[in-house]
Amino acid sequence: MTALVSLVVAEHDHASIKPATLNTVTAALACGGEVHVLVAGANAAEAAKAAAQIAGVTKVIAADSPSLAENLAENVAAQVLAIASNYSHILFPSTANGKNVAPRVAAKLDVAQISDITKVDSPDTFERPIYAGNAIATVQSSDATKVITVRTTGFDAASATGGSAAIETAEGVADSGKSAFVGREVTKSERPELTAAKIIVSGGRALGSAEKFTEVMAPLADKLNAGLGASRAAVDAGYAPNDWQVGQTGKIVAPQLYIAAGISGAIQHLAGMKDSKVIVAINKDEEAPIFSVADYGLVADLFVAVPELVKAL
Ligand SMILES: Cc1cc2nc3c(=O)[nH]c(=O)nc-3n(C[C@H](O)[C@H](O)[C@H](O)COP(=O)(O)OP(=O)(O)OC[C@H]3O[C@@H](n4cnc5c(N)ncnc54)[C@H](O)[C@@H]3O)c2cc1C
Repeated sequence: MTALVSLVVAEHDHASIKPATLNTVTAALACGGEVHVLVAGANAAEAAKAAAQIAGVTKVIAADSPSLAENLAENVAAQVLAIASNYSHILFPSTANGKNVAPRVAAKLDVAQISDITKVDSPDTFERPIYAGNAIATVQSSDATKVITVRTTGFDAASATGGSAAIETAEGVADSGKSAFVGREVTKSERPELTAAKIIVSGGRALGSAEKFTEVMAPLADKLNAGLGASRAAVDAGYAPNDWQVGQTGKIVAPQLYIAAGISGAIQHLAGMKDSKVIVAINKDEEAPIFSVADYGLVADLFVAVPELVKAL
């Protein structure tokens, strides 16, 4: 097909649209042409209505089926494939969900997936970070359908309101029978989720124990209504839970403010946070590489500096 029409596969909880969808819509708009959003869910009319409000979206395709209730990748991929021939571009947010579905779609369409794009140069040319963000690859694809995952921190969020897209229903796919939903254990936290947090405070190995991590870092996060992050060294040592890890093998974040305390700034950590708008580093070693990306650096003992900061806020 020649006309440019992009399909964004929405990330949602059946009632509302998750923020990662909004950044993905911005990437889709940059591909040129119309942007449609697929809401594949069960009793997800509210999510479809929310998707129709997103600025720049011209059509929402609502596929409703019990088979789509738990986001099983096999079923969602089949739903995307059922309408894939209408599209020049199919975009997923580069989230755990998106990365679970996109490769299945690309494989079935026999095209190369274009992963983790941070910029659209033209409808067939994209930029993506490689080597933990130390180089940018410019990738041109000659495939008929571009199947893309979008690094959400690379694109501003489209406005969640202001649009008035038509909602079209599509028949929901039958259950593939290849996988079954068994259960879900969800971490409940009062704090903002890392990838959506406007402010993140992160601690490193220097904290020394889980008790100290909580005692020193949590009050600062509470004061700033921030998400809590950690370096891999802190996670591996058991000072912080796994889903707090920021970096190449953790979460990629770009909050308005990132405060790193007792983190050296290894390239694998920087890969996950260096696009943050303002970076503050607290480290007792003035040579620590974290200072090379910091907007504000404080050479100090974090066990003194962080409580003082909390008191001053
Ligand atoms: C394939 C691969 C993937 C990886 N992925 C990740 C990843 O996703 N995320 C990640 O973070 N790392 C990752 N790493 C690990 C990374 O290389 C580093 O080992 C890790 O980031 C170091 O964590 P850290 O800065 O907390 O610890 P350290 O490097 O030990 O640094 C501790 C810092 O605390 C400072 N300090 C000590 N005491 C105090 C004090 N009292 N007050 C103030 N400062 C103090 C020290 O000066 C030092 O700079 C990865 C590594 C590999 C090989």
